[in-house]
Amino acid sequence: MKLFKRQQPPFAKHSKRDIPTDLWTKCESCGQLIYNKALDENLRVCAKCDFHFPLPARDRVDLTLDPGSFEEWDAGLVPGDPLQFAVPRPYREKIKEEQAQLDMLDACVTGTGTLAGRQVVLGVTDSRFMMGSMGSVVGERLTRAIERATDNKLPVIVISGSGGGARMQEGMFSLMQMAKTSAALMRLDEKDGLFLSVLTHPTMAGVLASFATLGDLIIAEPRALIGFTGPRVIESTIRQKLPDGFQRSEFLIEHGLIDLIVHRRDMKTTLAKITEMLAP
Ligand SMILES: [Zn+2]
Repeated sequence: MKLFKRQQPPFAKHSKRDIPTDLWTKCESCGQLIYNKALDENLRVCAKCDFHFPLPARDRVDLTLDPGSFEEWDAGLVPGDPLQFAVPRPYREKIKEEQAQLDMLDACVTGTGTLAGRQVVLGVTDSRFMMGSMGSVVGERLTRAIERATDNKLPVIVISGSGGGARMQEGMFSLMQMAKTSAALMRLDEKDGLFLSVLTHPTMAGVLASFATLGDLIIAEPRALIGFTGPRVIESTIRQKLPDGFQRSEFLIEHGLIDLIVHRRDMKTTLAKITEMLAP
């Protein structure tokens, strides 16, 4: 029998894990704990290290277009389950869960609105919904938006936040969206249309390898991770250490993949200036 029982220190009940997540967010770049209200007021940019957190698609629309001008297109399109994909869990179930949680039917919002008074077509992918991956609905919405822009001679802006690339659960139906969106952009280009591609953290794989790098101008937010395969996979494949900042916006502008790096607070005015200069 123990003579003394070890008492739990009173603070043991309140570990770091108990910090209410609805009040604070930890910066994934510098580790700073940021009060959510302050983060929202700063457009979800870390005030300490300037890391640009991913933005929900509808917030991005609000930040880009003139207030109240957005008219959404094809909002009712819903993904099918052509492969009856079931591993590690049924695709149908996963989709339903994401739809309910995020109040959107798939990872992309498209439509038209005005940017500093000029009508534009806007598409935004949302990295929260299955990592912003492109399945048949994302590809179809973007393609229809680009086709309407071509018919009506409107500039197209697509803001990508897609860590997931092509959506593996839809197999070939997903991969063919890469060709479909690219072909639609080629037809826009043949009619001298303008396409501005904005890459945000993260934009990867099949999204980067199709429409996202076909912009007349390719603009990125600071320090966004942009690449085909992620740095960890590359390092473990080639067994070499990658250079500092590899696949970040600042590295990519030096190597010619992107044309401009624009801070979130300046994005709307920059897009407005460019469309005014270059739109047909
Ligand atoms: Zn930070």
